[in-house]
Amino acid sequence: MKKTINFSAGPAILPHDVLKQAQSELLNWHQTGCSVMELSHRGKDFEQCALEATQDLRELLNIPENYHILFLQGGARSQFAGVPLNILSNHTSADYIISGYWSKCAADEAEKYCQVNRINVKTVHEEKIGIKSFNQWQLTSDSAYVHYCPNETIEGLAIFDDPQFNDRIIVADFSSCILSKPIDVTRYGIIYAGAQKNIGPSGVTIVIVREDLLGKAKRELPSVLDYTIQTKHDSMFNTPPTFAWYMSGLVFKWLKQLGGLTIMEQRNRSKAQMLYQYIDQSDFYSNNIATENRSIMNVPFVCAHEEFDTMFVAEAAQHGIIGVKGHRIVGGIRASIYNAMDLDGVQCLIEFMKEFERVKG
Ligand SMILES: *Cc1c(COP(=O)(O)O)cnc(C)c1O
Repeated sequence: MKKTINFSAGPAILPHDVLKQAQSELLNWHQTGCSVMELSHRGKDFEQCALEATQDLRELLNIPENYHILFLQGGARSQFAGVPLNILSNHTSADYIISGYWSKCAADEAEKYCQVNRINVKTVHEEKIGIKSFNQWQLTSDSAYVHYCPNETIEGLAIFDDPQFNDRIIVADFSSCILSKPIDVTRYGIIYAGAQKNIGPSGVTIVIVREDLLGKAKRELPSVLDYTIQTKHDSMFNTPPTFAWYMSGLVFKWLKQLGGLTIMEQRNRSKAQMLYQYIDQSDFYSNNIATENRSIMNVPFVCAHEEFDTMFVAEAAQHGIIGVKGHRIVGGIRASIYNAMDLDGVQCLIEFMKEFERVKG
């Protein structure tokens, strides 16, 4: 089989070893004679699998005991509604930091349930998009929480530093950067992430919620989205996405085996650095994000002429390099280089970029 190198933004590449293991036990999981996806979520085998995945995630992210970890459905977008409905309580407004497409979508959805204070933190300086320093973020004082997105997947724009919000409740959409580096979970009230970027297959959404935020849900909140109900039922109030949960668990074990998130951060930084360095020294490719806000997960770039972007995507595919088409709202090219992408993969991409530039440039 021809080797394909997949730079898709999501659903995205999974570690080869994890896929191999899933394949080897697909028909007979843990000597049950069944596939994991055929078994009851209430059986002891799956319960053990679910518990281990939860514990491994807790270990990887160093999640304290006063945080619950939920494995839900509905994608990150379901949490755009789930968050306000769970924790607005008697507040009537929430602060939303707008840094790109996904944070804006989150604000749009929240606006159905409360007044949304939009805080635009993007700056443009010498044609590069960056982020205002935290002391210029004009938060309101009486809103229920502050929501932000540390990695804007589409723009490739990241906020690496921990925002200083004093004692405000911070809610963060970590969909495309969870597990890319260690984080201090205690800074957050809620962390959520769709799994299909940097965790596992689509279908499972991770929510990490601080204990004291439970029990504040609005009456009209659908039960499946209710953190308190789901916590009481260990994420099994409704049938959980068992296969996606199992696969995520295999990825957690893979990450632990590699040495955890400090190692992953080093790997991710060197991959990203290699790619940005190549783009920066070239007159043919360019990236429009300020150096300090360049995502280490999603690297968008354009060619010197727009018509080359389409050719790039088509010709890359002929070389087995897929998933590099930029999101439809920004166009161009984007290479997503999540945990499961290795340095060799990025090197192959750069080799192709060199060749493309040599011919077209
Ligand atoms: C992909 C993505 C989403 C949407 O995720 P779904 O699981 O499709 O709902 C939301 N936020 C961010 C940052 C994303 O990258």
